[in-house]
Amino acid sequence: MSRYVFEPAPQPSLPIQGTDLLYPVRRIFCVGRNYAAHAAEMGGEVDREAPWYFCKSSHALQHSGTVLPYPPGTANFHYEMELVFALTAPVFKGDLAQSEAAIGYMASGLDMTRRDRQQDGKDNRRPWDLGKDVEGSAVVSALVAAPDQASLGARRIHLEVNGDTKQDATLDDMVWSCAEIVSHLSHYYHLGAGDLVMTGTPAGVGPVVPGDVITGGIDRLPDMNLTLGYAE
Ligand code: MN
Repeated sequence: MSRYVFEPAPQPSLPIQGTDLLYPVRRIFCVGRNYAAHAAEMGGEVDREAPWYFCKSSHALQHSGTVLPYPPGTANFHYEMELVFALTAPVFKGDLAQSEAAIGYMASGLDMTRRDRQQDGKDNRRPWDLGKDVEGSAVVSALVAAPDQASLGARRIHLEVNGDTKQDATLDDMVWSCAEIVSHLSHYYHLGAGDLVMTGTPAGVGPVVPGDVITGGIDRLPDMNLTLGYAE
């Protein structure tokens, strides 16, 4: 009988609001430039032919309500407020109906980003991992049962730093809907339960410093908050 040479890392998970259940997280997919106004502030434009992605390690997951030490290797650490959804069924080469049916939970979340390292990647045509796959950078609230997509559009998505509003939009500003993202991504991966998707951020991203408190939310989804700690 073989055994592990050391104890495996704990399974990353998210609480399901109002229950004692945990959702085990397998992968975290993130959508790039899913709001036209944010694409413009980043010096780009939305690609309307297809959505595109980057990934964060599941061990980048951080619960809402915690303190994240300011990460090493950056002097420009940014917030990005995002709608997050979690799959609960397999999807491979799925159509829109199958894709929407696989979205079991939603949450509000933060894609925290080393903007300077992301810019290095853009400038040098290198991957974004140092900019995006930052330890503790996928900050997600508790999950709740996913509402109908039809009810999502008018909902406000907002973020404040120390109480000052920095991001304020509605989900109908998203270029690609949640079901469209799942369907497209399912042509590249065997998606399934445990897969989280962070769906991109509206305009207004910016830096935070140690001591800042980030709050944010999406109408009728759990709020999230994060405190920036001092560098370790
Ligand atoms: Mn993002």
